[in-house]
Amino acid sequence: MKRLQRLDELNKKITRCKKCQRLAAYIRTVAKEKVNRFSDQKYWGRPLTGFGDVTAELLLVGLAPAAHGGNRTGRMFTGDSSGNWVARVLYENVFATKPTSESLADGFGLINAYMTASVRCAPPQNKPLKEELANCSLYLKEELFILNSIRVIVCFGKIAFDSCCKLLHIKGAKFFHGKIINHRKFVIISTYHPSRQNTQTGRLRWQQWSDIFSKAKDILDEK
Ligand code: SF4
Repeated sequence: MKRLQRLDELNKKITRCKKCQRLAAYIRTVAKEKVNRFSDQKYWGRPLTGFGDVTAELLLVGLAPAAHGGNRTGRMFTGDSSGNWVARVLYENVFATKPTSESLADGFGLINAYMTASVRCAPPQNKPLKEELANCSLYLKEELFILNSIRVIVCFGKIAFDSCCKLLHIKGAKFFHGKIINHRKFVIISTYHPSRQNTQTGRLRWQQWSDIFSKAKDILDEK
């Protein structure tokens, strides 16, 4: 079976998934109740699939969709402040077609990159439970198998980093911003998550964030 076809089948499975009852109920409630600033919009309100280039060499692993970001727009890192940081840095490093990612119809596309997350349903307070992470890790595992050109994985935050280490049987690795692990198949780079909590407090500054993607690009350019 071809890569694209396998990915389509996986994505159909993901969008119908209700394995984590707490999250399935939460995203439906958020989609129904909305927030004032988006009260006129129809929310996606379902699990989110990954997004990007099926032949990508760069994989971005986030924590989870944001309740009023991806859970509203239907695409990872789209329509929220984290998405603004992601789109801009990808564009500056030639991994995206434009520097903004706001809605499904905005023409934003990825170049040699694919975005995914540790869990596909927005969790309350951005805190998935252990069993929810375990449930959803099967999808990340399948993506890693299908996207077989991936060489570099950038993990956004400790949860994404721990999920990847677990899947790849990497033991005892400690998360810190800028950490690099040379796995037999992938180079794994960790960064603080570009959440508002990190970017507005100065914990993650633009230059630190940008350096992560320059590094990823340098690794991919060294053939
Ligand atoms: S978080 Fe993942 S495993 Fe849980 S319901 Fe959503 S898609 Fe399914």
